[in-house]
Amino acid sequence: MGSSDMASQPQSDSVKVAVNVRPLITPELVLGCTDCVTVTPGEPQVQIGPHVFTYDHVYGSTGSSSSLIFEQCVYPLVDSLFCGYNTTVLAYGQTGSGKTYTMGTNYSGESNCGGIIPQVMETIFKKADAMKGDTEFLIRVSFIEIFKEEVFDLLDDPGSVAKAAAPARVPIQIRETANGSITLAGVTEAEVKSKEEMALHLARGSLSRATGSTNMNSQSSRSHAIFTISIEQKRTSSSASEKSTSNEYDILSSKFHLVDLAGSERAKRTGADGLRLKEGIHINRGLLALGNVISALGDEKKRKEGAFVPYRDSKLTRLLQDSLGGNSKTVMIACISPADSNAEETINTLKYANRARNIQNKAVINRDPVTAEMQKLRSQLEQLQSELLFSRSGSAALEELQLLQQKVSLLELKNSELYCELKEREMSCEQLAQRAIATQLEKDQLMLKLESARNGKSWDDIENAGSEQDVDLMKTYISKIQQLEAEVTRQKFTTACRNGLHDRLALDKGMLLDDLGSGCEVGTLEVSSEVDEEEKEREHSSIQEKLDMELQDLDKRLQQKEAEMKQFAKSDTSVLKQHYETKLHEMEQEKRAFQKEIEDLRHALAKLSSSTDECSHKMKDNYLQKLSMLENQVSQLKKKQDAHQQLLRQKQKSDDAAMRLQGEIQRIKSQKVQLQQKIKQESEQFRSWKAAREKEVLQLKKEGRRNEYEMHKLLALNQKQKMVLQRKTEEATMATKRLKDLLEAKKSTRDAHGTGASGIQALMRTIDDELEVTVRAYELRSHYDRQIQE
Ligand code: ADP
Ligand code: MG
Repeated sequence: MGSSDMASQPQSDSVKVAVNVRPLITPELVLGCTDCVTVTPGEPQVQIGPHVFTYDHVYGSTGSSSSLIFEQCVYPLVDSLFCGYNTTVLAYGQTGSGKTYTMGTNYSGESNCGGIIPQVMETIFKKADAMKGDTEFLIRVSFIEIFKEEVFDLLDDPGSVAKAAAPARVPIQIRETANGSITLAGVTEAEVKSKEEMALHLARGSLSRATGSTNMNSQSSRSHAIFTISIEQKRTSSSASEKSTSNEYDILSSKFHLVDLAGSERAKRTGADGLRLKEGIHINRGLLALGNVISALGDEKKRKEGAFVPYRDSKLTRLLQDSLGGNSKTVMIACISPADSNAEETINTLKYANRARNIQNKAVINRDPVTAEMQKLRSQLEQLQSELLFSRSGSAALEELQLLQQKVSLLELKNSELYCELKEREMSCEQLAQRAIATQLEKDQLMLKLESARNGKSWDDIENAGSEQDVDLMKTYISKIQQLEAEVTRQKFTTACRNGLHDRLALDKGMLLDDLGSGCEVGTLEVSSEVDEEEKEREHSSIQEKLDMELQDLDKRLQQKEAEMKQFAKSDTSVLKQHYETKLHEMEQEKRAFQKEIEDLRHALAKLSSSTDECSHKMKDNYLQKLSMLENQVSQLKKKQDAHQQLLRQKQKSDDAAMRLQGEIQRIKSQKVQLQQKIKQESEQFRSWKAAREKEVLQLKKEGRRNEYEMHKLLALNQKQKMVLQRKTEEATMATKRLKDLLEAKKSTRDAHGTGASGIQALMRTIDDELEVTVRAYELRSHYDRQIQE
């Protein structure tokens, strides 16, 4: 518990300051400069004239070897970085004092020149590899430069093809987040997986810094370069269970700023130089402000009084706010030249550095604030609980126990309350942050307007420029809305159609059933098939439309890619490459020859410097002149080589891009063919389906007509039968009536015979009547039978 508690406390740390004294270099020797800096042996102390300064470390000259800088000053910072602290290394000093050399900012990845940055990179990846088992790493780098009070992204690649025609670089805005830390809006943060990858970014960045300087008349010493390595560590579960108390601290994120400052000497000289004054004010505002900040922070009395620190005076101090007197562990390396001609500047640098030693930083591990608070409360709770247990086991008084219990519950309550409050605060913080961003945006816009106003644009122009953008934005929104509305109406229409069809279908079906009886079946079938067809047709057309649109899209992309391809094709490829490669090779050889010559000359010089006669003195001068000339040539060659290398790299990039484009074009073409085939297939399918459907419908219609005809025939027959039936019934009633009459007549005659007639005659008549009745009856019956049969 103790250790984690300690770690969450801010560590108060003063800024460590080391001085690096470089040896005299050839140009200084040519001018006959002598060494005027002495280092007290065994002490971190520098003496120059009557001045004596003491630091944390002194390297070079008769002090410790410069190769120890990394081990003694920087390695501990890398350790802290992995513990979650922000760390910073600053190189300060006049132009030519060895800042870039010490930092290794111009490391090109070829040889290990012993600079700080390459060693930091190597150590970080070694450590990350060693911890890979239980920790996930996300390592990113960014590389910026502050030139004339503007921040530029050195990793922002404006596209290899358009590089030559690239307009002025776009400066980056500084933003302050809700918790007060400084960020750069839109700066490139490249994720890197290996040291080589990181070195490539560094080399690329320093190259664009270098080319910038050649365009701007070798003023690289006038820009501040900041190379930042951010690492995010996530402990995986296996380690979390091991350290159960610290498993809340899952994610640590920390940053390592490596700063190569601009040359410090101009701060004094610009005042005298009228022509450069304006430019100088811009350029040196940073260093002046840095000096002021260092003064303000370094003065113990002022610091205790909480005096104002002018961080906002320059971009440099704003960006370094955390590194100076804030949340960071910081090492400043003051680089000095031992030459007597630079004595004044050297003294200034040493004074500056001495003040920086007094700066107190408060570094904290960067972790989630909520979990940190929770952790604190939880540990408190644990402590109390153990106390409780202890008192329970002993013969402690019951009251004390209750008191403790109460305390515990109180603390628990407080805990939850605090948590709630924290949440609330976080929410409001977020809201505030959003508002801050919005206002920042507004401010930026206003600044932009102001800037253009300053540049002499009329107010109307500025207003228009703003509104034009707005109008564009509005236009895109409006078109989007229209699109969406069209989509909605289309959807509505399809659903409505479907519903309407269903209604109509039901109605038709009912009517037909009433009207036609058996015939109706055909009708409904037809209607439903019609609906089907409509739907299918709509579907087909929508599919066709979609496919057409896709095809058009593909065509457009194809054209675009082909145009791009043409651009690539214009610049001839392999010949150019070969040419540059041979040239590069030649240069390398030339450079080697020169370097050998330099070595030889140096040897001769060393020999000569031991003898003291007049002639050798002259020769020495001669040699020195030659030496400096040769060194100049070598550096020029190196510059050219760099430029060629960059060209080659660009070439490679554009070749790759061309290949990629070719592949893409091929892909799009094949896609297009596929799509066309699909369209054809689809329409073919639809056509055949439609034909089959039409045939079916025709057949059904024919059948319907036949059925109708049949029905009519049946109706006619029915009518006829009805008539026949009526006639027969009439006939039958007539026959029955006649029979009745007959029976009536027979009865009357029998009655008459019964009263008085002669016997035989009467019998005969009776028999006759009987016979007639029987015949009639028989006739009638047979008639009925026939009719029934019919
Ligand atoms: P700065 O970045 O401060 O302007 P540089 O790092 O470019 O200075 O150094 C200026 C010159 O001094 C370079 O030619 C460099 O090679 C040389 N130099 C700097 N430091 C050393 C050193 N410790 N040993 C040898 N040469 C050095
Ligand atoms: Mg430099």
